[in-house]
Amino acid sequence: MPLTPRLLLATEDTALARTLSWVLKENGYDVVTAAGGPQLIERLEQEEYDLFIVDIADADAGTIDRITRIRTDPTYHDMPLLLMSDPEFDTALLDAFRLGAADVVQRPYRVRELLGRIKAHLRVGRELNKSRTAERSRTEMVAILKEVTGMTEPAEIYQVLVRRVANGLRIARCSVVLASPGDTEGTVVAAFENPTLRDLRVELVKYPEIIRALEQGETVMVSDVGVDPLYQTVRSSWGADPGAGRTQSVIAVPFPLRGQIGGVFFLRTTTEDPPLNDVDLGFAEQVIQSSVAALERAYDIERGRTGEPSLRELADTDPLTGCANRRVLDLRLAEELDRARRYDQVVTVVMVDVDDFKRINDTYGHAAGDEVLRQLAVLLRRELRTMDFLARYGGEEFLIVLPETGGTGARLFVDRILRRVQQFQFGEDGVQISVTASAGLATFPDDRAADDQALLKLADQNLYKAKRAGRNRYRD
Ligand code: GH3
Ligand code: MG
Ligand code: MG
Repeated sequence: MPLTPRLLLATEDTALARTLSWVLKENGYDVVTAAGGPQLIERLEQEEYDLFIVDIADADAGTIDRITRIRTDPTYHDMPLLLMSDPEFDTALLDAFRLGAADVVQRPYRVRELLGRIKAHLRVGRELNKSRTAERSRTEMVAILKEVTGMTEPAEIYQVLVRRVANGLRIARCSVVLASPGDTEGTVVAAFENPTLRDLRVELVKYPEIIRALEQGETVMVSDVGVDPLYQTVRSSWGADPGAGRTQSVIAVPFPLRGQIGGVFFLRTTTEDPPLNDVDLGFAEQVIQSSVAALERAYDIERGRTGEPSLRELADTDPLTGCANRRVLDLRLAEELDRARRYDQVVTVVMVDVDDFKRINDTYGHAAGDEVLRQLAVLLRRELRTMDFLARYGGEEFLIVLPETGGTGARLFVDRILRRVQQFQFGEDGVQISVTASAGLATFPDDRAADDQALLKLADQNLYKAKRAGRNRYRD
């Protein structure tokens, strides 16, 4: 939304148009006037307005009809409407015109009252707009995360992200360029404007905003490449003015991979696209930030396919079971809770502990005990969704993070895994070992668990309750 509110004043009374627009401009508003009729529609289509003021005192049926149509058009439905009328105007007629939600000021117009009403309308309109935008981007974000979370190839994820961001912002050009700070070349791994493009090398010297975004680790926006000093050198290589349809603004949003800047999202608008504002930028940044985890996972899987575990991965993994270790769990859980706070979602953690494991070790030997833990990890992993997370929490304890899962879903889940454990024949080489496990659940948000450590503690307390109640069960 522009800083100066823009008002559209529609009246056929030219004297009123002149004085009122003067008063409004003096009070800091941007005013555009329309003399009813077709001009009204034309003005509306040209620009966005924060408030629509219509003088219906001398308006004919045609004008009223036109306003009704504007109001029922979804494009303009949310634009606040202030009507000015004769004192004889029968407000009951508003309903007949389907203008029920409109506000009316009557002649003689008092400037102070009018200004007060305008201010109130703008405030309400802005709040409405803000909450709608927030709601829209939240819904959109959840949809995007759902789409990319299950994906196992980084290239595929990049394709989804450029498409989602370009469609969400209604811009024609959006790409992902991988590069690190200090690089002179980057690789375009996906471009909305060219879906078949793969791994195109580009010289970054032509993209000063990308270089700057990589170096600073912050979003860089150039509103007009035609005048911005950052583009001076690049401009001099352009030659003749490319005219309409040329790039108008560019935005580079850097994103991290494994704790370092790994590339940028590169958005461009042409002189024919609607200009991008802060809300758009925020949307792009959020989409990208929340997709980083999915991207990193996809890179991990890709590396797994090519058989090159990194040192980092080795350090992150418990060697006996192949599960993530406690250090990674802490990072991951904190991340999930962050996300849950941001998008108002729930997360459940499940702490699973083998019952009487000491007895298993004592009866079958330590090696057999190890095998039981390995088999249990496989069994648990099989029950998880892609977005869930399994870690070895301690000796014979595992922890499962269930994002977007509340108490009811988690209870069904735990009930199932405890049954599977009980039914499964553990052990090998003809030695069959029966195993049961107990579990403690904790769901975020909870008054007793403001952060990840408190949530784990709560799950641990519930686990203890399950043990006390006789084992082979869960408590929450
Ligand atoms: P409870 O039902 O109360 O959980 O009883 P428990 O015997 O399972 O619990 P306790 O905590 O007393 O014993 C856990 C045992 O797990 C003790 C430890 O020696 C064993 N343990 C821990 N890590 C490993 C491991 O990596 N391999 C094997 N084989 N045993 C382990
Ligand atoms: Mg234990
Ligand atoms: Mg135990």
